[in-house]
Amino acid sequence: MTASTHEGPERYEVIIVGTGFAGIGLGTRMKRAGYESFVMLERADDVGGTWRDNTYPGAACDVSSHLYSYSFRINPDWTHVYSPQPEIFKYLKDTAREGLLDHIRFGSEVTDADWDEEAGEWRVVAGGREFAGRVLVLASGRLSDPKMPDIPGIDSFSGTLFHSAAWDHDAALDGLRVGVIGTGASAVQIIPEMAKVAGHLTVFQRGAAYVRPRTNRAYTEVEKRTFERSPEVVEALREDLFWANEARLVERQALPALLDKASADAHAHREAQVKDPVTRELLKPDYVFGCKRGLKSNDYYPAFNLPHVTLQASGIERIEGAVVHAVDGRTHELDVLVAATGFEATDLPISYRVRGAGGRALSEAWATGMQAFATVSPHGFPNLVVMGGPNTGLGHNSAIYIIESQVDYILGVLDFLAEDPARVVDIDAKVEEEFMRNLETKMEGTVWLSEGCQTWYVDSRNGRLTSLWPDFAHSFRRENGVFDPSPYIVSTAPGRSGSEAGNG
Ligand code: NAP
Repeated sequence: MTASTHEGPERYEVIIVGTGFAGIGLGTRMKRAGYESFVMLERADDVGGTWRDNTYPGAACDVSSHLYSYSFRINPDWTHVYSPQPEIFKYLKDTAREGLLDHIRFGSEVTDADWDEEAGEWRVVAGGREFAGRVLVLASGRLSDPKMPDIPGIDSFSGTLFHSAAWDHDAALDGLRVGVIGTGASAVQIIPEMAKVAGHLTVFQRGAAYVRPRTNRAYTEVEKRTFERSPEVVEALREDLFWANEARLVERQALPALLDKASADAHAHREAQVKDPVTRELLKPDYVFGCKRGLKSNDYYPAFNLPHVTLQASGIERIEGAVVHAVDGRTHELDVLVAATGFEATDLPISYRVRGAGGRALSEAWATGMQAFATVSPHGFPNLVVMGGPNTGLGHNSAIYIIESQVDYILGVLDFLAEDPARVVDIDAKVEEEFMRNLETKMEGTVWLSEGCQTWYVDSRNGRLTSLWPDFAHSFRRENGVFDPSPYIVSTAPGRSGSEAGNG
């Protein structure tokens, strides 16, 4: 790692923002490829991103462990088919320990990032310090800023209130009246755990979820040692898991027969597990399968059979002191309220702090929805790459596969820029628009844009499907996994003396 020694900003080739799966993945691959001049800015005091922050009871991954991990760092020791949060967090920390810790500045939240056209570099302020880098990588994610619900009077709640991604481990729960707002991927893991400890649990369901069985099991010692001795066995397992998941995409592509089969499985699961017919009906989703992330749980529905668990199947009208008033007029007095209400996934807070060519904020460029060529390069933001930004979410397969595809692409960008210390790349607006038009063709007819589908994958400001990649994961890699400089505008930073001229 090298930084400037003179007065002024710490200077690097590359500045990476975030040390979650994306940042750690890129940093590790850069390190292995021999890159040394990079710094990683992390606002928290540890690595891990969403797997550091989401410590709620029951937190786990609903994608198989051997697929939800880097292909370049397989882990024979996963204890279960689906890993709990502490194991994934440890995996990321162990990965970072293999050479990245010296590159990371903890407690360094990016407050400003400005493109300096003359110098051909990004000037970044983080944690009160200044950094300069030719390339800025936003690896800060879409599921990193918790979204509190906009409920009138929520600030007046007199009990303990917190978000699922900022769990208050000091809060008393045992025997108390606990409410959980939301029935998404986080809530279905939290609710069974709260049912175990709360004196009374109230679940505030605005829209019911499709929940299918989750068949988890521990790996045996024999299996783990086989994985250790024979990495090719893990490779084969990863292939099987990947292609089995790929087949699930067609469920989302509005092919009626497959949608019917998937929703029938979820309905059968609910009917088999929920005893009370009224509750069973209230838990039934009223939208097409696949619109929201399909969930997996064996202990979510049974929680509603317990006498001390109440389902409030309506929105919340207001909160006054300890009392939550539901839209249907019922009231619930609570000691603790957990908002499992998701994240600022479509209007990213960091986009307000990044200013590209001409001082234009990324939030302004994305006012009509996030977009970027190859999901990585937004027009007007030279030498900026985004990871886990627009159109990178998957409802059907492992997010790590997408991250690794972007890592490959970005390593291509870095190698290209390394050929000439003055080189600058930006994508032409028309090329970006054409990329988006092609993507929008893929989106046509999918469940996410069907009538009545309300999902965080769609930007509520404009109705555009900006969070999700609307196709197979392998097509993402084919289309966005290899950097090709030809569609880019390549120029030379005027202020970089002693460097070779750029090529265009
Ligand atoms: P989410 O999927 O956005 O769910 C938020 C929940 O809160 C929804 O049920 C939503 O209701 C409800 N809600 C939001 N605002 C509300 C309001 N004002 N009043 C009442 N209800 C409100 O958030 P999440 O569960 O945290 O999951 C986010 C993403 O994280 C997932 O989609 C997934 O990508 C990831 N995740 C993954 C795993 C995993 O195992 N891999 C686990 C957890 C999370 P509506 O449905 O009506 O909008």
